[in-house]
Amino acid sequence: MSMHGVRPKMLGFVSEEVSAWLVALVALVAGGLLTAFLALATYELYQQQLRQRFELLASERYSRIEERFEDQVQRLDGLRRFFVFATEITLEEFNGYARPLLHRTQAYSWAPRVPGPARQAFEQRATQVLGRPYEIQQLTDDGSLRVSPARPIYYPVLFTQALKLLRQPLGLDLLSQALRQDTLQRAAKPGSMAVSAPLNLTDVEPAYARGILMAAPVFAPHDPDPQPRGYVMAVISMRQLMAEGLPNAAQDNLVVRIRDLSGPDSQHEVLFQSDNRGASSTLAASHLLHLADHDYQLDIRPSLAFMQANRSSAVPAVVFLGGLLSVLLSALLFSLFSQRQRALTLVEQRTGELRISEQSLRDTHNQLRSVLDAATQVAIVATNLRGVISTFNAGAERMLGYSSAEAVGSLTLEALISPQELHQRARDLSQRYGREITPAQAMFAQTVQEGGKEAGEWTLQRKDGSHLLANMLVTAVLDEHGLWVGHLAICIDVTERKRVHEALAARDRLLDKLSAEVPGGIYQFRLRLDGSSCFTYASEGLRDIYEIELELLRQDATAVFERIHPDDLLRVRTSIRHSADHLTPWREEYRVLLPLAGQRWVRGEATPEPEEDGSTLWHGYLTDISDLKRVEEELRALSVTDSLTGIHNRRYFQERLKVELERAQRDNQDLAIIMLDIDHFKRINDQFGHAVGDHVLRSLCQRISQRLRRTDVFCRLGGEEFMVLCPGSNAEQAHSLALELWQGVRSVVVEGVGQVTASFGVAGWRPGEGADALLLRADSGVYAAKQAGRDRVEAELS
Ligand code: GH3
Ligand code: MG
Ligand code: MG
Repeated sequence: MSMHGVRPKMLGFVSEEVSAWLVALVALVAGGLLTAFLALATYELYQQQLRQRFELLASERYSRIEERFEDQVQRLDGLRRFFVFATEITLEEFNGYARPLLHRTQAYSWAPRVPGPARQAFEQRATQVLGRPYEIQQLTDDGSLRVSPARPIYYPVLFTQALKLLRQPLGLDLLSQALRQDTLQRAAKPGSMAVSAPLNLTDVEPAYARGILMAAPVFAPHDPDPQPRGYVMAVISMRQLMAEGLPNAAQDNLVVRIRDLSGPDSQHEVLFQSDNRGASSTLAASHLLHLADHDYQLDIRPSLAFMQANRSSAVPAVVFLGGLLSVLLSALLFSLFSQRQRALTLVEQRTGELRISEQSLRDTHNQLRSVLDAATQVAIVATNLRGVISTFNAGAERMLGYSSAEAVGSLTLEALISPQELHQRARDLSQRYGREITPAQAMFAQTVQEGGKEAGEWTLQRKDGSHLLANMLVTAVLDEHGLWVGHLAICIDVTERKRVHEALAARDRLLDKLSAEVPGGIYQFRLRLDGSSCFTYASEGLRDIYEIELELLRQDATAVFERIHPDDLLRVRTSIRHSADHLTPWREEYRVLLPLAGQRWVRGEATPEPEEDGSTLWHGYLTDISDLKRVEEELRALSVTDSLTGIHNRRYFQERLKVELERAQRDNQDLAIIMLDIDHFKRINDQFGHAVGDHVLRSLCQRISQRLRRTDVFCRLGGEEFMVLCPGSNAEQAHSLALELWQGVRSVVVEGVGQVTASFGVAGWRPGEGADALLLRADSGVYAAKQAGRDRVEAELS
C-alpha cells in the first residue's frame, strides 16, 4: 500500500499541499463576495437615505421659497389695497405703510397715472410734495434718466420706499420703457398682477441687480375708468428673495437655481443660481413656482457640503471589516489546514518509519535465523534460566546428533556435557571461588564471575554417547531491561583442530631439533616490495652467526646488514636483489663483523619464491665458514710458494705477470722483468752435494729478497732460475736494479762454497707486448750473458 493511499485526502482532486491554499482562497473569495454584497446593500441603503434626506431638504426649501413668492404677492396686494381705498396718500403715509413691507423686497413704488396735459401741474405738485425738483423722465439706453418727451399718458414713479436704493428713480415714466410698459399692460386688469421679464434693476447693488418688477394696478373702487389710477410696484431682487435668511453658500446643503419659464425654451433665463458647488449626483428636484402671471422653475440639487455632510463611512467600514475578516478567516483556515496536514504528514512519516523499523526487525530476525542455520560448524544453543534448551541450531544438530525438535524444550545444556568433566569443573570452581558451585552453574560460573569472554575447552557428549572436544562460551542472555533471562552457549568442535595443532607442534619440535643439529642456521627470509625485510623463520643457529636475537630478526632484518663487512655489503645486497629479480638460487660468501667473535666468514645459500603480495621469500641456510676460509687461504699460499726457498713459485709468477701486464696496459704504466740463472750450479751440486746446493739457493734468495722493494715480486721459476717482476719500472730502472742484485749476489761468499755468481737478463715491457714475448726477451738476455762469459748483467736486448 502506498503512503498516499493511507492518508485521507481533504480534497480528492488536488494535492494536499495545494488544498490548504485552496481552502484559504475559497474562504477569501467567499468572504470577498459577502463583503461586496454587504457593501452594496449598505451603499443602496445609504443612497436611499441620502435621497430621502435630500428630498426632505429640497421640499422644505421649495416650501420656503414658494412661501416667499406668495408673501411677495400678498404684500404687494396689501399695498394696492392701501391705495385703492385711499383717496389721497401722502408721502409720509406711503412710507409709513411701505417701510414695514420691505422684507426681501428691494423697493416698493407708487406710480400714479398722469395724463399728458396734467403733466406740468403734476410735476409742480410733486416737487412740492417731495420737497425737491421733480420731472417726468425716461430711461435712456445707457441707463441714465433724462426728461421725458411729451406723451399722452404717463405713469411716473412718485413714491419709492427702497431698502438700499442708491438713487431713487423718481420721475421715471414706466411707460417710457418697453419692458416696464409691457408689464403694466399685462397687469392692467382689476385685481391682476404682472411680473416683468427679468431685468437689471437700476440703482441696486450689482450682486442683486438681476430681478423682476411686479406691478399691480390700482383701480379706484366703483370707478368705471378702465385705466388704472396708478400702479404699485415691488422691485424684487431674485438673489435677495432666494438667498436671504437661508444658510450661506459654504454651508448650504442645496444648490438652487431658478429659471424664468416665460418665452421659448431656449430663452429660459436663469434668474438665480446658488454660489456653492453642486455635487455630481443623480439627486435632483424640480418644482414649478408661480408669481403673479409668471411661472418659474426651481431646480434643486445637492451641494458638495450636503454630500460631505452625508458622506457614509459605512461602506468603507464594511469593506474594510469584511476584507479584514475574510483575510483573517482564510489565514485561520490556512493555518488549521496546514497544521492538520503537518500532523498528517508527521503521522505518515512516523508510520513509514515504524514500518521500516518493523521490516528491518523482521529482516534482522530472518538474518539471525539464517545465520543460526548457516552456522553448521558452530553449535548455538540458547536456554532459559532453568537451563532448558530453547534454540538449537543446525550446527548443534550436526555436532551433537540431536534434532532441534528433540532438544528444544526437553534437554538441558547440562545434559550435553560429559558428567565427569562437569563435576570435576564444579569442584575446581567451588575451591577457587570458595563457595558451592553446582554442576549446572559450572558452565557459566567462570564467565559470569570473571566477566570473561574466553571460550573454555569442554568435552561434549553426543546423542550416541561418543565424546567430542569443543570450545564453548556460555554467556548470559539479557532482556531489554538488563534482566537475566537465559544462557547462550556457542560451541566449536575443536577435536580436529586440536589434532592438527598437536601435529604441527610435533613438526615444530622436529624442526627445532633438526636445525639444532645442523651447523649454522636455517631460515626463511622475506623481502618486501618496499625494500623492508625480515626473517619469518630463523633457527637457533642464526643467533650465533649474526649475534642478533632471533626475536629481532623475525621483525626486521636491518640489523643483519649492519653486521656485514662494509666491503662485502654491496655485493651481498646486489646478489639478493639479483636472486629476487630472476628467482635464481642465491649463494654468497661474505664477512661479518661481530661484537664478540670479531670477523667471521659466512656462507649462505637460499632458493627464492615469489609471494602473492609481490614480496620474495627465500628458504635457505647460513654456515660459519671461517675455518674453511682459513684452510683455503693456507692452501692457496702453499700453492704459490716455493717450498725450498719460501719465495713465490712459477705459478704465482705467471698469475702476477698476467695481472701486472693488464694493469700496465690499462693504466699505461711501466713494467719490467729481471731474470737470473746461477752460473755453473751443476758444479756446486756436484762438488758439495745437493743439500749444499739447496742451501746456496736459499741463501741467494734471502740476499736478493733483502734488496728488493715491497712492490717487486720475486719468484723461483724452477731449478736455479729466478725472476723479479718490477711493476712501475722501465727497462733502464730494472737494469739498475739488476746490477744491484748482481753485485749483491757476487759480493757475498756462501759459507762452505765460496763465491756464487749469476747471469742476469732484463726486459722492459713494451706497450702491446704479450707475456711470452717479454719473457723470451729476458730469457734471451740471460742466454746472452751466459754466452758473454757469465757473472754479468745483460742490458735489454733490442
Ligand atoms: P750454466 O752456467 O750454463 O747455467 O751451468 P749450470 O751448471 O748451471 O747448467 P744447468 O742449468 O744445465 O744445470 C742446472 C743444475 O741445477 C742441474 C741440477 O742438478 C741442478 N739442480 C736443479 N734443481 C736443483 C735443486 O733443487 N737442488 C739442487 N741442489 N740442484 C738442483
Ligand atoms: Mg745455471
Ligand atoms: Mg739453469
